[in-house]
Amino acid sequence: MADKEALMKTEWTDPVTGAKGYLVIDELIEGICGGGIRMRPGLAVGEIEGLARIMTAKFMAMNIPCGGGKGGIDYDSSKEDSSEVLRRYLLAHRPFLRENWGTSEDLGTREEEIMSILSELEVNTSVHAILESSEPEERQKLLHNLITGLNMQYDGVVFTDVVTGYGVAVAAREALKKTDIEPEKAKAAIQGFGTVGGSSALYISRQGIKIIAVSDAEGTIYNEDGLDIPDLLTKRNDRGVIDRSALPDACKLEDRDRWMELGAELLVPAAISEVITAGNVERVNTKLIVEGANMPLTKEAAGILSEQGVKIVPDFIANSGGVGLFGALLFHHLPPEPEKILEYLDRTICDSVNRTFELSGERGLSLYEAANLLVEERRKNILENETGTLT
Ligand code: NAD
Repeated sequence: MADKEALMKTEWTDPVTGAKGYLVIDELIEGICGGGIRMRPGLAVGEIEGLARIMTAKFMAMNIPCGGGKGGIDYDSSKEDSSEVLRRYLLAHRPFLRENWGTSEDLGTREEEIMSILSELEVNTSVHAILESSEPEERQKLLHNLITGLNMQYDGVVFTDVVTGYGVAVAAREALKKTDIEPEKAKAAIQGFGTVGGSSALYISRQGIKIIAVSDAEGTIYNEDGLDIPDLLTKRNDRGVIDRSALPDACKLEDRDRWMELGAELLVPAAISEVITAGNVERVNTKLIVEGANMPLTKEAAGILSEQGVKIVPDFIANSGGVGLFGALLFHHLPPEPEKILEYLDRTICDSVNRTFELSGERGLSLYEAANLLVEERRKNILENETGTLT
């Protein structure tokens, strides 16, 4: 993404603990932005700026008329008083929550906690500002659709746990086609087996692609003949760690970074940020990387791999399914029905990947550069369709 300046940043100091908190508004569309609140010790404003920028790109890629924003608090969320710190942060940012910023949970915060504090602060919901920007007669219905949509079940799990991985699988399917790799002959390896990694693995395997390796915090599980993903999903705990004692004999246990060098044509890093760096990039053996996690490759590593001809589909295209769900319900007014939402995700992400490859071919750009151009194209279309834009 182009490293442009954010539209606005706040820096807040908690009067009781001295903790620092930030809100970065990367961009406003029609006065509105969206993005969650992260709380972790050591958090710096730069991290929040980067995440706010990615949020803008995801909204644009999904054709959603909303800018990116992100909240952050440098505090340990496991401390007993963390809820009080969050409360004071939300109080200080109440004008933004009322007027401009729709928010949600992120690392270290929980949706129910945010909602409960906000109702005490007389901000009705975490998406108050977004609802206020819609037609008054539609607000109740949109809120009802959002709550229903966030709580519905699909494939035996809550729908919010499906959408990001589903979108990653769509991006992988289209990128394989563009790279002339036949899905039936392709092998995939996935890092992470939590919300994103687990659902990416499930929907990629349903496309007939053989998944030969998955890794979690404890290491890589490998089977050259392919892993049984639905079975592995029954053996993981709520931290996304697979029970090694329940694995079939054919599975080999390897070190944690082994997944990237097993010769899978498709790699999906879907665990943590900056896992492929200049320090380990020579271990990578693949043709295509689809980013499930946010920023799993450093810029340097991505540059080296692109030079070698490896195609990389960036996070803001591939993992935008969660943003898509939110946008489908609140901005595109889709009903809270899984099939309708998945059809929208499939159509939009498929189109984004194809257009990105097209722009890359036409202009001789890397996929990352082409994806940035796609975001610019979509932004232009969105702004032309909106009136009185406040950016
Ligand atoms: P999660 O906590 O549900 O799962 C994380 C997984 O990664 C677990 O399986 C864990 O064991 C594994 N892991 C941790 N460290 C590892 C390591 N060093 N090597 C291999 N595996 C390791 O997290 P999640 O919600 O799936 O999020 C994963 C990434 O995707 C994060 O970067 C997150 O910001 C991003 N993301 C999440 C969503 C979402 O909807 N949850 C949406 C977009 C992007």
